[in-house]
Amino acid sequence: MTPSDDETPKSHHRPGGFQNRYNDSVTRNLSEVLRWRWDASRRGLPPLPKAPTPRVTPDLGFLHANATAGVDMVPTVTWIGHATALVQMGGISLLTDPMFSERASPLPFAGPRRQVPPGVAPGDLPRIDLVLVSHNHYDHLDSASVDALKAQAGGSPLFVVPLGLRDWLARRGIDNAIELDWWQEHRIVGPAGDIDVMLSPAQHWSARGLTDRMATLWGGFAVFAPDCHLFFAGDTGYSKDFTDLREHLADRQRPETGGGFDLALLPIGAYEPRWFMTNQHVNAAEAVKIHIDVAAKRSLGVHWGTFELTDEALDEPPRSLAHEVKEAGLQDDEFFVLAVGETRRIPRR
Ligand code: ZN
Ligand code: ZN
Repeated sequence: MTPSDDETPKSHHRPGGFQNRYNDSVTRNLSEVLRWRWDASRRGLPPLPKAPTPRVTPDLGFLHANATAGVDMVPTVTWIGHATALVQMGGISLLTDPMFSERASPLPFAGPRRQVPPGVAPGDLPRIDLVLVSHNHYDHLDSASVDALKAQAGGSPLFVVPLGLRDWLARRGIDNAIELDWWQEHRIVGPAGDIDVMLSPAQHWSARGLTDRMATLWGGFAVFAPDCHLFFAGDTGYSKDFTDLREHLADRQRPETGGGFDLALLPIGAYEPRWFMTNQHVNAAEAVKIHIDVAAKRSLGVHWGTFELTDEALDEPPRSLAHEVKEAGLQDDEFFVLAVGETRRIPRR
């Protein structure tokens, strides 16, 4: 029996860092990385996209008015690009994995380059109250973006991060940060009532350098406000972590109190080649399984169209998602994508 077949979750803490609950072989060794890069270059992958990633002019007037509407705020999600979304709920404006820079890389002149400008420029954002960071990979935790948020008018937002990332923020002068372990929660008093933020398990890894592999924690977030329950999965492979999450929340999301998540942000891109990526990045079919596992009423596909990270074409994930949504018998608006800069209003729970 391989570790991934073992149905008993193990502790995710280990000396000097963390591990996944159901799978010990998420990261790849150097020879596997070289084999992947060699194959991709020999076969000319990824193919060119057929069309650029769709982008619309954001409705800044609405987003700014909604940001200060307090109890009258309309729950919304706006796709900024990649795993970055602006979500307005519970009277606050939050960002997931803020990434506005030109490259997802430690180096300004190398590494994956942004293929479409951010849907909202940092200077055009409404005041951000809360930032959720899923893990420390460069396409999710970006120094310049974090610095810009710290410098916003009215002061730094609150950052909620997985274990081990508070020090990183402190070194950039950000003291307004809360660090969570999996299943831990932090309560925020919002203008429309209490908002609870929980870190949930994901099957992934972390590293910013050569010597810090899995030294800081990774995860997803569940955010519970009176008008909306949000799930942001971060980066993840498919695992039993998602049915575990649903069981963990069974009491809190009973049908008579509004049911499951009103909105899930699920990754749908960066999945090829499967032999390399399966354990760390879901494809569209697995994202649909997560949508069902966590009982999301609707999901937005993110983590595509912005940075060329893997072997599938930049515009393949939404095509694949449309196919899988149909296969699963879901409605188109149950699991959708947005244009960069587009806003979707979410019915109140
Ligand atoms: Zn990652
Ligand atoms: Zn990523």
